[in-house]
Amino acid sequence: MLPFAIKKLFFYAYKRGMMKIFGCIFCQVAAHEKPATIVYEDEHCVVLRDIRPQAPVHLLVIPRKHVTSLNDDLEEDKLLLGHLLTVVARMAKEQGIDGTGFRTVINTNAEAGQTVFHLHIHLLGGRILGWPPG
Ligand code: 5GP
Ligand code: ZN
Repeated sequence: MLPFAIKKLFFYAYKRGMMKIFGCIFCQVAAHEKPATIVYEDEHCVVLRDIRPQAPVHLLVIPRKHVTSLNDDLEEDKLLLGHLLTVVARMAKEQGIDGTGFRTVINTNAEAGQTVFHLHIHLLGGRILGWPPG
């Protein structure tokens, strides 16, 4: 039996390989080539509902530009990252969860649970969210 951590690393390598073969699903969503429930879009980003919501409100804010994760060289993308956060705040207001509270999450790489290797900000709210996260 392989240790769990090794299995996770194999899974991570497999997912990244699949992305190279089939293309990036969030790039496809941003280009309207793959169906998604899009709630907002502008020149720089798209906001969609998560296909497996973990809270009554679970949105994903994704840049149109393909950025793999926070491990990329982000020197050129500072303005873009700031813009994504302003869109998060706007979405929280629009969804009516700014007053009660919301959580933003960016998972980076295998052990943090990143499964889609196109940077995205989770916006979660509409229920009490436990802390610390799992
Ligand atoms: P991660 O695990 O990488 O932080 O988050 C990826 C998120 O994307 C997951 O919450 C997953 O449910 C969501 N997701 C994966 N594939 C699709 C898809 O095709 N459409 C939508 N709307 N969400 C997706
Ligand atoms: Zn992409």
